[in-house]
Amino acid sequence: MRVGDLVDRARGGDPRAVARLVSIVEDGADGAGGADGSAELRAIMRAIAAAAGRARVLGLTGAPGVGKSTTTSALVRAYRRLGKRVGVLAIDPSSPFTGGALLGDRVRMQDHATDRDVFIRSMATRGHLGGLASATPQALRVLDAAGFDLIMIETVGVGQAEVEIASLADTTLVLVAPGMGDAIQAAKAGILEIGDVFVLNKADRDGAQQAVRDLRNMIALADWGETGWKPPIVSTVAVRGEGIDDLVARLDAHAAWLESSGELARRRQARALSEVAAIALAGLRARMGGLPGEARIGQLAEKVAAGKLDPYSAADELIASMTAAPPAARLGRMPADDIQD
Ligand code: GDP
Repeated sequence: MRVGDLVDRARGGDPRAVARLVSIVEDGADGAGGADGSAELRAIMRAIAAAAGRARVLGLTGAPGVGKSTTTSALVRAYRRLGKRVGVLAIDPSSPFTGGALLGDRVRMQDHATDRDVFIRSMATRGHLGGLASATPQALRVLDAAGFDLIMIETVGVGQAEVEIASLADTTLVLVAPGMGDAIQAAKAGILEIGDVFVLNKADRDGAQQAVRDLRNMIALADWGETGWKPPIVSTVAVRGEGIDDLVARLDAHAAWLESSGELARRRQARALSEVAAIALAGLRARMGGLPGEARIGQLAEKVAAGKLDPYSAADELIASMTAAPPAARLGRMPADDIQD
């Protein structure tokens, strides 16, 4: 099937076409067709480029067990009631031993399994060190082009992932729960700074009010600069859907602020910048690793080791040799826009 047909079907709301595109994007960004993207992935990205930037992107993060899946599911329900089409990308840390997703498909998400206006995909982080799945920005583009009004990216709060989510999302939600020392942990991990909206979930548990107080104090201490946005704290009982309408209202307020302050444009440009930089770096690394790049860097290293060349001049030579003759297929001209089914 041609990429164009698949894209047309996805934009017409065909869930199978969306799933197929996301799979191609995942495989293509994973190095299967070259570290800087397979030919199919590149064809898809070209076909959907003009449709970018319509969806609102929400990032959700927090420690395991804090209620991210339950909250995501409750938000999906709330936005569906408002007639919005919703996409969810759940980022799973993958096991270094099996390469598979640890958490598997979220059970709670199955409430939405038969709704064709809800798309849910678990993405493994695979080789991408400590962070979001490397294909997440591209999967986001696919869902955006397919006309989803709202896209949620859910990450388990481990390491770098929370901070990376903030670079992809328009609005970042940080979830904490009472009695888990979460607020303090969040402060230590530096994720307080990335929260646009804080959610104190499990507000039915003991210590909820104390946790809100702790969180409020820590937010007050954090440096929000001149942004003009003070992150609110919303208490929820996600399992019962309590506080979700309030949360939706806060998210709407943040969306309005993003628009009126010019911050939305700034965030989206920053997102595009890191996306382009990551692809370019992957491309350069691939060329450095493969022949003739490998031979070239080998020769240069020999000279540097022997004291015949300094490392800066060697690096300049390497960059010049890598950019002098890029492979023809990488230069806009696509040999085949066909996809093998
Ligand atoms: P995640 O690991 O952050 O995605 O957390 P889950 O959404 O899987 O929730 C972890 C557990 O907490 C599950 O057993 C949920 O049913 C439970 N849970 C989620 N929200 C609440 C809540 O508001 N109150 C209580 N008491 N339990 C909750």
